[in-house]
Amino acid sequence: MQGKCLCGQTTFELNVPKIKAYQCHCSLCRMQSGTASNLGTIVPAEKFSWLSSRNHIKSWAKESGFSSDFCSNCGSPVPNKLRGMDYYWVPVGALIDVTSVEIVAHLCTDSKAVWDYIPDDSVQYDSLPDLNMFINELNAD
Ligand SMILES: [Zn+2]
Ligand SMILES: [Zn+2]
Repeated sequence: MQGKCLCGQTTFELNVPKIKAYQCHCSLCRMQSGTASNLGTIVPAEKFSWLSSRNHIKSWAKESGFSSDFCSNCGSPVPNKLRGMDYYWVPVGALIDVTSVEIVAHLCTDSKAVWDYIPDDSVQYDSLPDLNMFINELNAD
């Protein structure tokens, strides 16, 4: 499946059968997404490929490790390679023609906005889960 930014200068492809995603409700993800939470997934690097040049992609990183890559032409969040790991973070809203997305967990629920709504029957983590464990869960069959 393919994805792109608003202006179309950034295009990429995922070679995965389905999308398991998470929503992170922390204050950084709220500001990065402009809404209550982001909706992301993490895929192995060998299942990710850029279809366009990356010359126009800008990156902002916090010392804590949080980083946000975005198209410098239209401002859309775009995929970024997890630092030091062979995985890419992918903003699920950028995917085109996805027929189903399974939201497996809500993260950082302790720092959600007071006006945010998280379904009671969802899997919730009050902070960030162990990253390796969580990546395995996102990529499990
Ligand atoms: Zn763009
Ligand atoms: Zn977050």
